[in-house]
Order: sequence, then structure tokens, then C-alpha cells
Amino acid sequence: MSISSELSILNEVIDKLQSSFNHSLTVDTNLDEVASVLNEVAERMQDNYPYFDTKYAGQMLKPPHPIARLAYMLALYFNPNNHALDGGKASSQMEKEAVTSIAQMFGWIEYLGHLTGGGTMANMEALWVARKLHPDKIIVASEMAHYTHERISEVLGIEFKKVNADQYGRMSIEALEDILNQNEVGTVVVTLGTTGTGSVDPLVDVLALQKKYNFRIHIDTAYGGYFKLADNLTEYGLAQYEAIRHADSIVIDPHKHGLQPYGCGCILFKDPSTGRLYKHDSPYTYFSSAELHLGEISLECSRAGAAAVALWATMQMFPLERKGAFAKGIENCRIAAISLAKLIAEDDNSIPLFHPELDIVVWAPKGNTLSDISQKSNQIFHTCAKKDLHLALFKYPSRLLPNEWGHIERDQEFVTCLRSCLMKHNHHDWVDQIWSVIKSVSDESFK
Ligand SMILES: *Cc1c(COP(=O)(O)O)cnc(C)c1O
Repeated sequence: MSISSELSILNEVIDKLQSSFNHSLTVDTNLDEVASVLNEVAERMQDNYPYFDTKYAGQMLKPPHPIARLAYMLALYFNPNNHALDGGKASSQMEKEAVTSIAQMFGWIEYLGHLTGGGTMANMEALWVARKLHPDKIIVASEMAHYTHERISEVLGIEFKKVNADQYGRMSIEALEDILNQNEVGTVVVTLGTTGTGSVDPLVDVLALQKKYNFRIHIDTAYGGYFKLADNLTEYGLAQYEAIRHADSIVIDPHKHGLQPYGCGCILFKDPSTGRLYKHDSPYTYFSSAELHLGEISLECSRAGAAAVALWATMQMFPLERKGAFAKGIENCRIAAISLAKLIAEDDNSIPLFHPELDIVVWAPKGNTLSDISQKSNQIFHTCAKKDLHLALFKYPSRLLPNEWGHIERDQEFVTCLRSCLMKHNHHDWVDQIWSVIKSVSDESFK
């Protein structure tokens, strides 16, 4: 679809939106000036990597779907604020519907939750609730969890401990039990889909430990959450995702895998009475009705109603159903990752870190020492970028390297690997072309 046909749809629906109001949705201004500044913006924005291109296979970036972009722009003519119903009447209702669908995807009918500016704010809210409920207990997360948990714990003044990971980048259950034996742990953060390697922590085993040690479980599935809909995970992966419903809180980012523009995270609590913890006496909001204002159950105050409208609209087109079009798209990402992993495994000059659990692939060029490998990874990364193929780099702790890396001299504490997030629903069609560039660049570096 061309952008002008996208914008002509927007043009039509703006008329519809405007038709029940007596006022114009815009103000008179000097349009020549607007055009001139926008020209400058277009020029400045050219200094970006081509994120939307299939040959951008590096960081965790997925372009928003046109429906999300257009619904966001349409809502922006109103610019609703989902803090209170006074500022975002229709968009708050759409937020409640969209968030209810996400909760249902995880198996929750009753829940408390809302959208946030992103995964960091959503995790902050989960850990804030954790501290309210267990003020004197500590929070733990795997060393491969997102760094935000350690930092948020610092902000909230909670003691935080890292749990060692195993050779698949998953939380080590033995290391967790050691910590549980020696500390009063209030909350265990379990990551389903680590940001670095897409590893899935052993939630089922953590749930078994919960029976003995009685702690809260917070699931950070900011990146990996939508894989709940995928049928093509490993048996291990499927079992962990199935267990999500037993957790106390969940974070998922619609702006990671959910086709949304940035500014869309989501926090869910299993226990609706968590809402009592948010009580405050704002003198100036919530006067319009007895119905729930989302600001009453949110740490953030003003929030973009447009983000909720975009998510709601996207979910009309792509309901969160197993075997539905969206679920197939997520499964395609995993198919792409498995195909790339296969090519890497068959290549004489490459060594995989481990088999991908979701849609992130991490590997390295072979070498005799970790410093040699790191230097080659850097070189391949930069040369591929010059050929318009964009990968990412990832530093993995040497002590967690799998047995297959046993013969390589560990002359440094970290090894720099190559990393690819295959998050576009059509990436699987491009794996061969992506690999042919990597292969030629890599072979060159071995000459
Ligand atoms: C991206 C990510 C975060 C941080 O979320 P933002 O939306 O970037 O603030 C936290 N945890 C995990 C696992 C993530 O992938």
C-alpha cells in the first residue's frame, strides 16, 4: 500500500470524526512555514538506519502496522489523555477492552491492569506493588534479565540480587534456590524472552519452588509475551508460556511485538484488589463519574489516549487468537529464526551460541580465542552494515558459554557475538538473502 493511499483513508475518516462536533479539529496557521520546517525534518530523519527494511535484522525493532499508525494519527487530532475519563472518555473505554483481551490471552478473566508508556514503567509498577506488599523482602531476577529491574529496585529502595544464569541464558534454578535459602525473597522476576538472547526462564520450576518458599512471581515478557499465541515453540517453551497464568503480575510491550508505535507497554495484576494500593487524594481529578478512571490505578498520570486507540484498532484487525493472522505472523518470526540457526549450524566458519527459543539468533564466527572471535564479530557487523544488512552485537559472559565452545581459549570475561532479531512477519522469506550477505562477509574475514 502506498503512503498516499494510507493518507487518503485518514482524510476520509477525519471528516467522519469531525462531523459530530461544531469546531474544527485544527487551527489556522502558516502552512508554508509548516511545510518548510517539515522539509527540514524529513532531511534530518534521513540520518537513520532503515528499520522498516527486511534487511534490518539487528535490534528489537518492528515497524507499526498501518492500522496502528493511522488510528494513532486519527486520535491525535483529539489528543485524548487516558489519565481520567474527563480527558479520554472513548479512548479509556478502548484501553479497557484492549487490555482485557491481552489479559485473556494469558488466561486471566479477572485482573487489574492498564497500558503504560513502555516496559520500564510497567515493570516499575509491578515492583512498586511488590514492595508495598513485602516492604522488607528482596527482589531477585536472573543476571540475563533486563537491567531495568536492578535499576528500578534502586529507585524504589529495595534490595536486589542477581540469580546466576545457565548455559542457555536461562535463570539457574539451583542458584535461585540457594538465594531463597539464604534470604527473605519477596518477589522473583521471571523473564520469558530475555532481551539479549530470547531465552525463556524455567517458570514451571520457579512455581514449584514457590510452594516451598512462598514468594510473588512477576513475569517480564515485555518482548516475548505475544509468543503465548505461537504453536511452534519447543515443548519446554510451550510449558513455560502455559504457566504464565499462575503468576502474580505480567508485563508485555505492545510496542515490541504487538505492531504498535513506541509509547505502549502494559501491566497486569492477577488480583484486582491490588487497586487499593494506588489510593491517593488528588483534589483536582476524577469528578466526572463513578466509573473507574485509569489514572486511579496507574503510577503515570497523563498518558497518550492515542496509544490505546491504535492498539484497540490493531486488535480489531488482528485479534489475539491462536492460529489467527497475528499468531501466524509471530510463528513466522520463529520460523525465520530456526532457518537462520540451521544455516549457521551448517556453516564451517560459524558457531551458534545455542538454539533460538523465540526469534532471536545469537552466534559467532569461529576462532581460537574469545578475543579473536570478538574482533571478527565486530568486523562482520560493520562490513554487513556497509552492504545494507543490519545486525546487532551482543556481549555474552564467558563463564556461561555452552560445552560446544569448550575448546576455545577463554582469554576474556565476555565474548562479543552477532545477534539478529527476526521480528518482521515476512522475515522468513528473507533469511536466505540475509544469510548470503553474512556468509560472503564472514568467508572474506577468514581469508
Ligand atoms: C524491552 C524490554 C524492557 C524495557 O521495556 P521498554 O519498553 O523498552 O521500556 C524490559 N524487559 C524486557 C524483557 C524487555 O525486552
